[in-house]
Amino acid sequence: MRQVIIIGSGPAGYTAAIYVARANLAPLVIASSVEAGGELMNTTEVENFPGFPEGIMGPDLMQHMQAQAERFGAEVVLDDATELDLTGDIKRVTLGSGETHEALAVIFATGSAYRKLGIEHEDRLSGHGVSWCATCDGFFFRQKTIAVVGGGDSAMEEATFLTRFADKVYVIHRKDTLRASKIMQDRAANDPKIEFVWNAAVTALHGEAALTGVTLTDTVDGSTRELALDGLFIAIGNDPRTHLVHGQLDLTTEGTIAVDGRSSRTSLPGVFAAGDVIDPTYRQAITAAGSGTVAALDTEHFLAALPAELLAQASSS
Ligand code: NDP
Repeated sequence: MRQVIIIGSGPAGYTAAIYVARANLAPLVIASSVEAGGELMNTTEVENFPGFPEGIMGPDLMQHMQAQAERFGAEVVLDDATELDLTGDIKRVTLGSGETHEALAVIFATGSAYRKLGIEHEDRLSGHGVSWCATCDGFFFRQKTIAVVGGGDSAMEEATFLTRFADKVYVIHRKDTLRASKIMQDRAANDPKIEFVWNAAVTALHGEAALTGVTLTDTVDGSTRELALDGLFIAIGNDPRTHLVHGQLDLTTEGTIAVDGRSSRTSLPGVFAAGDVIDPTYRQAITAAGSGTVAALDTEHFLAALPAELLAQASSS
């Protein structure tokens, strides 16, 4: 049995792993079967993570974090947690491989998942013109006409990045003002390939083998029109990834895992949460990293107060 298992390998999970490993607690990090590193693996340049004045590519940043955690004794497993039993003194984490790992404490840092539009054919056309990842799929849209849905930093970043490939990039937003930061807005607004479509919602997707266009509904007057497109990138935010703990941990009304005040303590003793899965507001790499630190320190305090018999079980195997 381990002392600590960390589920998730974004900035929160890896930062928690660095701290827990440096406390000599040899954490096991369940890092996902698809790709370790979380959402920043789908990002290009990260310009606002302190310490990198010239910026750093998202995947490079995450590889550095992983290497730093491993250097101090964290073990990273490329698999998904598929089932959790968090209620007893000994927590059990089952992986996609079928293996079950035990620990005295769990740090839950599963981040968030791309939000969907929730309209017909969205899943069917996913990978056939509909995408959630410009850095993954942008290359397929050279000299094409595409659109990005959303008005936040993600939408601006994706739209700006996609102008490298596409001839024309519409940004479709349901309001007439953006939520994105000024610098990202300006970058998109000054790009000659980008055209904003204001007060518009994508209400239908068209195409059999691949996307051919969308129906836009005006959010002010309800009128509709068709827009021919080769690609649609959906960048409308994320929802916290909590399905593994439903029924075990308390959630907030926003759907994030509820924690006690500014701590990472969830509704179950020995279970801590960090990063986007507890944060409906800030959701930055650096705030997630800070939150991972809080979880690691809370975990250390929790373990230090456990009865010696339990601790002995963890260190003996
Ligand atoms: P946000 O939640 O900030 O923005 C989501 C956008 O999508 C909003 O404009 C919202 O509209 C719109 N939206 C939400 N749901 C729907 C829907 N069902 N249909 C149509 N539009 C919808 O998410 P982001 O992913 O953009 O950003 C998340 C966090 O990550 C933020 O804190 C952001 O600052 C950060 N980030 C930072 C980057 C950077 O600094 N380099 C890059 C990318 C993200 P409305 O405005 O009407 O609510």
